[in-house]
Amino acid sequence: MALSSSSRVYDCIVVGAGIQGSFTAYHLAKNQKRTLLLEQFPLPHSRGSSHGQTRIIRRAYAEDFYTNMMDESYQLWADLERESGIKLYRKTGLLVIAPSGNEEFESICKNMEQKKIPWERFTKDQLMAKYPEFILNPEDVVCCDNNGGVLYADKALRSVQEQFQRMGGVIQDGQKVKNIKPGQVVTVTTTSDIYEAKNIVITAGPWAQKVLSPIGLELPLKTLRINVCYWKEKIPGSPGLLQNFPAFLGVNLNGEEHEVYGLPCQEYPGLIKICFHGGNEADPEERELQTKPPQIPDIQILCNFISKYLPGLHPKPAVIEQCMYTNTPDSNFILDYHPLYKNIVIGSGFSGHGFKLSPLVGKILSELSMGKEPAYDLTPFRITRFKTQSASL
Ligand SMILES: Cc1cc2nc3c(=O)[nH]c(=O)nc-3n(C[C@H](O)[C@H](O)[C@H](O)COP(=O)(O)OP(=O)(O)OC[C@H]3O[C@@H](n4cnc5c(N)ncnc54)[C@H](O)[C@@H]3O)c2cc1C
Repeated sequence: MALSSSSRVYDCIVVGAGIQGSFTAYHLAKNQKRTLLLEQFPLPHSRGSSHGQTRIIRRAYAEDFYTNMMDESYQLWADLERESGIKLYRKTGLLVIAPSGNEEFESICKNMEQKKIPWERFTKDQLMAKYPEFILNPEDVVCCDNNGGVLYADKALRSVQEQFQRMGGVIQDGQKVKNIKPGQVVTVTTTSDIYEAKNIVITAGPWAQKVLSPIGLELPLKTLRINVCYWKEKIPGSPGLLQNFPAFLGVNLNGEEHEVYGLPCQEYPGLIKICFHGGNEADPEERELQTKPPQIPDIQILCNFISKYLPGLHPKPAVIEQCMYTNTPDSNFILDYHPLYKNIVIGSGFSGHGFKLSPLVGKILSELSMGKEPAYDLTPFRITRFKTQSASL
C-alpha cells in the first residue's frame, strides 16, 4: 500500500472516534493542529462505549480530584452547547443513596461541602415529599448534588465531531488501524490507507489493549459487557416516575457491594434506564456472545433493587441493550504518554464514568500531545501506578 496521496504529515492522528477521541481531536483543531480522527466503524455506531442517548453528569465524587475537574468540564460542555446551538445538559439533580455510615457516601458529602458545591442531605420525609416513587430501607441515607443531571450523549458525540470538522479537522471512518509504526514521524496503516503524523493519541476504548500490545504496552485493563436495562412503570403515566425523576446513584444498597444508577425517562416512552455499574468480562468483538456463564448476576441484582426501592416499576427489564466498560484496577483513568514514545499519548480505562469528564479529558490529552503542561495533577492517571504494566519492544 502506497502512502496516501492526500497525506502530508499530520500534526496529530487520533485513533478512535468515541467521545474521548472526538474531544481530543476537537481541542487539537482549536489549537490549529492539523488533525486526523480515525474510526474503525462507519459513524455513528453502537459497538463501543459512547453510544446511547444519556449519561449522568455530577460533581458528587468520593475522590476530590474528579470533583475539581468537573468545574472546567461543566464550562467546556457549555462551550460546546454554545458553539453547536444544541442543548446537551439537563439539570435534574442527582441523588446518592447509601446505607448509613457508608464510607463512600460520607466522602462524597464531605467533598461537596468542602468544595462549596450546591448540595443537601434529605431526611426520609423530605425525600418522600420530593420523590415519592423511592422507598428506602430504614438504615438508608440520601444526599443530592443539585446541579447533577443528564448529558445527551449521542447529540454530544455528533456535535463535537461536527465542530471538529468545522474547524478543518478530518474524520476517516470505516478504517480500522492495523499497524502503528513509532518514530519521529509515526506511520499509521489502516485497512484502506497509510497516514503519517508527528504525534498520535490512542483512545480506542475497549479495543485499547489490541492497539497497544503491538507497540509494546500491556496495561491491566478489563473489558466488561454492560447490560443497559430499561424498566416500565406499572401504571402508565405515573407523574413521579415520568415527570420529576432525578438521576441517582445507589451505593451498596440491599446488602450488595455494588452500585446501581438510574436516569429519567428519555430513550423510550414510559421506560426508565436503571443499570448495574459493572458487568461480566467480554471481548468487544464478542459482546453479544455469552461465551462464559456470567459471574455477576447483574440483572437479578437490579430486579431485587427495583422491587425494593422503586416498586412503581415492573421488576423485570422491558428492554436490554449492550455497551462496554474498559476498567482499570482502581477505576481511575489512564491519561499518559507511552512509556517508550513521547509522541504517543494514551487515553484509556475510563471505567464506566468517563463521559461527563470527556471535554476536559480531551483537553488534557491534546495538551500532552502538544507538549504542554496540563493544569491538573495527573498522578492518579499515570501508567506507572500499575505494577503489571510493561513496555518493551
Ligand atoms: C452503559 C454505560 C453507561 C455509562 N454511564 C455513564 C455515565 O452515566 N456518566 C459518565 O460519565 N460515563 C458513563 N459511562 C462511561 C462513558 O460512556 C465512557 O467512559 C466513554 O464513552 C468512553 O469513551 P471512549 O472514547 O474511551 O471509548 P469508545 O466510545 O468505545 O470509543 C473508542 C473508539 O475507538 C474505536 N477504535 C478502537 N480500535 C480502533 C482501531 N484499531 N482503529 C480505529 N478505531 C478504533 C472504536 O470503534 C470506538 O469508536 C457509561 C458507559 C456505558 C457503557
